[in-house]
Amino acid sequence: MSEIKVSRTEKPRTIPDAAGLGFGHIFADHMFVMDYETGKGWHNPSIIPYDEFCMFPSAMVLHYGQAIFEGMKAFRTADNEITLFRSQDYLNRFNRSAEILCIPQVDIKMVYEGLKKLIQLDKVWVPDAFGTSLYIRPFIFATDPYVGVKVSDTYKLAIILSPSGAYYSGGFDPVSIRVEDKFVRAVHGGLGEAKTPANYAASLRAQVEAKKEGFTQVLWLDAVERKYIEEVGTMNIFFKINGELITPALTGSILGGITRRTVLELARHWGIPVSERLISIDEVYEAYNNGTLEEVFGSGTAAVISPVGELSWKGNNIVINDNKTGPLAQKLFDYVTGLQYGKVKDTFGWLETVAKI
Ligand SMILES: *Cc1c(COP(=O)(O)O)cnc(C)c1O
Repeated sequence: MSEIKVSRTEKPRTIPDAAGLGFGHIFADHMFVMDYETGKGWHNPSIIPYDEFCMFPSAMVLHYGQAIFEGMKAFRTADNEITLFRSQDYLNRFNRSAEILCIPQVDIKMVYEGLKKLIQLDKVWVPDAFGTSLYIRPFIFATDPYVGVKVSDTYKLAIILSPSGAYYSGGFDPVSIRVEDKFVRAVHGGLGEAKTPANYAASLRAQVEAKKEGFTQVLWLDAVERKYIEEVGTMNIFFKINGELITPALTGSILGGITRRTVLELARHWGIPVSERLISIDEVYEAYNNGTLEEVFGSGTAAVISPVGELSWKGNNIVINDNKTGPLAQKLFDYVTGLQYGKVKDTFGWLETVAKI
């Protein structure tokens, strides 16, 4: 494994206080980078000051979108330890996305070492208030200076860090979601199960229309029958119907969330009947009509759990659990965040300490 070179910034920036963090627009002082070239493999792992990239206008990613990313978090516990949650699962998914986008596999150990070193160097950027975190964004993009279509021969991998405010600073309020019946996100055999920018490009139009109508997000249906539920914009989705927790099966067009996996593992551990299967929007409305739709919530790294208070499908609105957070959503949120901030004992082996303040 090659040595990680470190060049520290000469101009460390002021860290904003937790109140002004928001999400995704403030970045820590350093980033991890590594390059790839066919024949040479991944090389030159380095930590350098966070700054602009230098690339050609013909860089392939700008024209054909060959790129992938991840989204994970580091937390500061009450004991001032910096921890990562299920990092190996995120890094394994990074390689799965790479496979789908014809991007060369990364050495997960190398990327993990780079990430650890980066967090150790920028540990003061991990905010300490409950609910705040250091959002970690690893990504890879194609850099060949070439405007023909092919698989790139050169890539850059980078990891940037963004201190983030509490997602629920305004309270744990249920969101309203529009069930999308015009646009689709992904199809079987496509890119749906990869974390790739293309899926987000495909989702923007629907998102804009939903926002215009006052909804927070859209719920995607399958692209063929427009019937089976897939996922929400940046989250997987769960329905509690008649005591059973149901989430769409990973059929190839859905992103396999790490939070989704956490929810499934916890629910099974708690003895709640769980199923991963096809679930149609008609089934959800039917459950609502016969009074068995107990809870609906999304799962994702950013929000952890996001209760859904209202669904709107073809102009037909239903209000779930009186637009209040259900007991299972609350229990999952409390447990997962409890683990992440070191208030609940980690019996699953999901956390590792990477630095101490
Ligand atoms: C990242 C993502 C999710 C949630 O996955 P987590 O690993 O739980 O953060 C769900 N859907 C899409 C499209 C995503 O990109």
